[in-house]
Amino acid sequence: MIIIENAHVATVDAAGTEYAGGHVVVGDDGRIVAVGPGRSDLPGERRDGTGCLVTPGLVNTHHHLYQWATRGLALDETLFGWLTTLYPIWGRLDAEIVGAAAGAGLGWLALSGCTTSMDHHYVFPRDGGDVLAAEIEAARQIGVRFHPTRGSMDLSRKDGGLPPDHVVEDTDEALAATEAAIDRWHDPSPDAMLQIAVAPCSPFSVTTRLMEEAAVLARRRGVRLHTHLAETDDEEEFCLKQFGCTPVEYAERVGWLGDDVWLAHGVHLDDSAIARLGATGTGVAHCPSSNARLGTGAARVRELLDNGVPVGLGVDGAASQEVSHLGAELRQALYTARQRQGPKSFGAREALRLGTIGGARCLGRQDDLGSLEPGKLADLVMWRLDGLGHEGIDDKVAALVFGPPARVDLALVGGRPIVERGELVGADADTLTANARRAHRRLIDAV
Ligand SMILES: [Zn+2]
Repeated sequence: MIIIENAHVATVDAAGTEYAGGHVVVGDDGRIVAVGPGRSDLPGERRDGTGCLVTPGLVNTHHHLYQWATRGLALDETLFGWLTTLYPIWGRLDAEIVGAAAGAGLGWLALSGCTTSMDHHYVFPRDGGDVLAAEIEAARQIGVRFHPTRGSMDLSRKDGGLPPDHVVEDTDEALAATEAAIDRWHDPSPDAMLQIAVAPCSPFSVTTRLMEEAAVLARRRGVRLHTHLAETDDEEEFCLKQFGCTPVEYAERVGWLGDDVWLAHGVHLDDSAIARLGATGTGVAHCPSSNARLGTGAARVRELLDNGVPVGLGVDGAASQEVSHLGAELRQALYTARQRQGPKSFGAREALRLGTIGGARCLGRQDDLGSLEPGKLADLVMWRLDGLGHEGIDDKVAALVFGPPARVDLALVGGRPIVERGELVGADADTLTANARRAHRRLIDAV
């Protein structure tokens, strides 16, 4: 057993219980045995948490790991301009590039306090090899719990969509490959390290038939559904013109509202759309840094939460948000909410809830992840908050959210360390960096 003591423990349970100078006991089965005040008298390997805050591991609910290979491009573009600049480059992706990008992206996420991440991969070049297997291998090496989605695009420019012809797939082939990914990888067990979701890309890159049949497929197989929705004004205009309705009305029409669905962004939502998401239990992956980088607007997170919508945080792809640091996203979420509605509208503990239990709800893992309670999986982070950047901020949760990104002293996934004293356990950061540099160079030189 691992016993963390003398730490400030923020459990993020329903009551928001915290212990100043508390303990967390992790069992050999990878689940939490006990959480409480003071010390534990159970025997085990003791970790001193003096000067640290222990929280549930952060859950990343939206990402495109392959984009680590195309950071720093189209820096001043809107979403549609950014996409049309990058699609031709992404058309050259292969398994080696995606594996290197995923290693870098997931390594960086782990160092930022993330213990569970999804990935939304939707570019499958014909001769690119097995890109999904490449990123799954990277996740195994880093040690994060992984929810890759089998994405897809089948609506190209010649049919009225945004992507060029050579980056889209045939509808039936995309559906068959998605089901094959479920067969090969999806683990439905409560302590799963790997779960697949079904994720056609967006209204402007996917046909109505693919959206409808993807929903049927996911429900037949008992897996979750994910897509981009209501990210920009351009998308809203596209939906009004093509479908005669708003993005959320379109989602409802194609069977895409429900408590097995979570949507990336949800920026442009009116009151009735928010009410529909709440009534159906449809989740939202809030990506405030990406929305700021692309200037798409600020999601109405206060209203989403007040309507009962499950809201998690996402860093989004590293090409639309070069920081890609989930710990830093806590502060960005708080700042974004306060820019809209003032400092009393959203607090540090709500930001932490979005990053933990909110994300777990989006991924359907709230029974096992997202809070520190006996019986739940021991996915947790011990943040060091007694250095120059945080010393003097007595409220430890405020220090984490309002202060600079904190060093991760220890990150556990199912009780196994993936970060120790600010270093990755399963990989060497210099090697990940060199691999990512090579992948970027090879991709850019090929175009
Ligand atoms: Zn995205």
